[in-house]
Amino acid sequence: MDYQAILDQVVADVSAYRGQGTVASYIPSLARADPHKFGIAVALEDGAAFVAGDADETFSIQSLSYVFTLNLALQQLKSALWNHVGREPSGAPVSSIVQLEIERGRPRNPMTSPGAIVVCDQLIGRRPAAEAADELIGFLRERAGDQGIGIDEGLAMSESQAGAFNRSLAHFIAAFGNLRNPVEDVLGLYYRHCSIAMSCRQLARAALYLAFDGTDPVSGDAVTTQSRSRRINALMLTCGHYDNSGDFAFRVGLPGKSSVAGAILAVAPGRGSVCVWSPGLNAAGTSLVGAIALERLVEATGWSVF
Ligand code: GLU
Repeated sequence: MDYQAILDQVVADVSAYRGQGTVASYIPSLARADPHKFGIAVALEDGAAFVAGDADETFSIQSLSYVFTLNLALQQLKSALWNHVGREPSGAPVSSIVQLEIERGRPRNPMTSPGAIVVCDQLIGRRPAAEAADELIGFLRERAGDQGIGIDEGLAMSESQAGAFNRSLAHFIAAFGNLRNPVEDVLGLYYRHCSIAMSCRQLARAALYLAFDGTDPVSGDAVTTQSRSRRINALMLTCGHYDNSGDFAFRVGLPGKSSVAGAILAVAPGRGSVCVWSPGLNAAGTSLVGAIALERLVEATGWSVF
């Protein structure tokens, strides 16, 4: 298959849509993003990478980080993690405090912000939060094969300053006894892991192991078990796109995760991984142009899991 030709065609196909959607505005650095930006990168089993557009420009990975923290927390806690967070799609806008109250502080799934707050808390465990952040950065550097990956600390600071909503969720979870560490320590890791700067090329490479049952097909590293890898993919498919996960599965048909910065990371089991970035979001918070691009990619490659 000529992946470069396919990506070039995807870029041509989405050109009419570029600039559409609404850029997130809750912090200045996201509000400044240019909605015309568009990058896409595909990583394959043999290590080949195909890219088009702004695929080497870095952006904050935001909630794409949830996929990787979930992986690390599952490695550490194994099934005990599920005592603290569920596995059902939320069906509610982004992160509903009402739902959290009804479910007594146990978030619906790890792909929402309250779920990721709980996963961060469990990942910290009994060590300093900074050690958990270092572990995550080390993991991403190794998976992406790029030691330059790091946290944009200024961005993490503005996330925290604008973080009243997540702070409320975290205190609410703590009130139900589902946080073991102080709220500010947990949120410190949460905001820092949302502020990791990566490009489409790096993200597609970092997620490649999820397309190959937990083993990095290039290095041969057994990153996680087959069953955990499949379960992470299952959660991405059912819960990865806010209240838009059903529509994304219908249109694209791949496990994936959307973020507020306009990136979507998706996995095609047995085939490869792909990351697309375009900052304009649809009404549910998923990249508008990014989702169209993935639809076109899947049409051209036959990558749907269905
Ligand atoms: N920093 C964001 C928040 O929790 C991440 C959200 C996202 O990508 O959905 O507010």
